[in-house]
Amino acid sequence: MGNMTNYLQELAEEVEEELLPIYRRVHEISLKNHARVLSAFRQNRVSEFHLRGSTGYGYGDAGREVLERIYAQVFGAESALVRGQIVSGTHAIALCLYGVLRPGDELLSVQGTLYDTFAEIIGIKGNYPGSLKDFGVKYRQIELTPGGEPDWDEIRRVLKNHRVRMVVLQRSRGYAMRPSLCLEDMAVLISFIRSINPEVVVLVDNCYGEFVETREPPAVGADLVAGSLIKNPGGGLAPTGGYVVGSKKYVEMAAGRLTAPGIGADVGPTQCWQRLFYQGFFLAPHAVAEALKGAIFAARLFERLGFEVSPRFDEPRTDLIQSIVLGSPEPLLAFCRGIQHNSPVDSFVVPEPSHLPGYEDPIVMAAGTFIQGASLEFTADAPLREPYAVYFQGGLSYEYTKLGLLAAAEEVLRCVGNESQAT
Ligand SMILES: *Cc1c(COP(=O)(O)O)cnc(C)c1O
Repeated sequence: MGNMTNYLQELAEEVEEELLPIYRRVHEISLKNHARVLSAFRQNRVSEFHLRGSTGYGYGDAGREVLERIYAQVFGAESALVRGQIVSGTHAIALCLYGVLRPGDELLSVQGTLYDTFAEIIGIKGNYPGSLKDFGVKYRQIELTPGGEPDWDEIRRVLKNHRVRMVVLQRSRGYAMRPSLCLEDMAVLISFIRSINPEVVVLVDNCYGEFVETREPPAVGADLVAGSLIKNPGGGLAPTGGYVVGSKKYVEMAAGRLTAPGIGADVGPTQCWQRLFYQGFFLAPHAVAEALKGAIFAARLFERLGFEVSPRFDEPRTDLIQSIVLGSPEPLLAFCRGIQHNSPVDSFVVPEPSHLPGYEDPIVMAAGTFIQGASLEFTADAPLREPYAVYFQGGLSYEYTKLGLLAAAEEVLRCVGNESQAT
């Protein structure tokens, strides 16, 4: 066992040496993003007064208004809604869907299956009252080509012949072995869509994407963008919340759905979380960079240990999710045990696979986080199905992620009983 630890330590050192130029690129992006955030704080003259919360209706809450201006500016959008009353990314996305779509409209995905929690909202799974289907909103899905490319001809055909009101794009890969949508490709896709139907509303599920590149989806033409504050933009500090940014008109429609038409974004107390929203957003570019370096480290370390990983260490990234194909249930469980045992909270818990609402197969999760489910802190999830891939994301500090990954690697190696796989 001591030998295995030494072996992993040495391998880790080698890998880190090799990754220095890639880490440098991450730092360059982080510096640009940090400068953008800092400059928005300064231009909007944030003062101590803005960091206090409000109660009741939250009328005239200057702290809330200024933070929303800062988000809009940083994302390159007209308007923003940044609220603790939005409980998750799924909720933020739902506000956009229900805010804009009307009976008879069609919602279109051009990247195949969307993130799991869309299925119930759309009404293709379960039969929940109040799903889009229940409201008479149709859903259509165009698969990616076998090469992982958009099916341009089919997109053109559908946009020409159907009453598509909204196209939803997903930036991150989610829990699927498919490519993420980087900003450059998103720009091409959005202008293609607009060239066929200029009226269509483009919504981007931006979860896990914020600050991984130096631009955000509004800068390449997205009308509405949604995400979670317990992921990237909360910087690991926001205790709850979600955001919507985009064109004024559509953000207003989402706000009308969050509260009520007429009061929209004008109400919403900021209670005790406002300082953490500010501070978290300020730190987010750095936290994202730490998480990215952790993912890159994992990609190379596990590749060297003989596992298939996606994305590879030197591939360009637009989100935080890293997957490692572990091949069978035992090493998958071992990986999650390693991460859990090396967490600051609940380190003594043994993760067990279980069925979760909204997910097809049993899922095993490792999450020893300060904020429940906060995946920017470092969490791993794995559905128990072929190819037995674990997906992980986050890591508030690179050091923490590295320690967790070495613990996970040790568990995995012990489990496969073969440390001579290294190449
Ligand atoms: C996390 C995530 C969501 C929303 O999930 P919540 O748990 O509701 O915040 C949606 N899409 C993607 C791609 C995600 O990663």
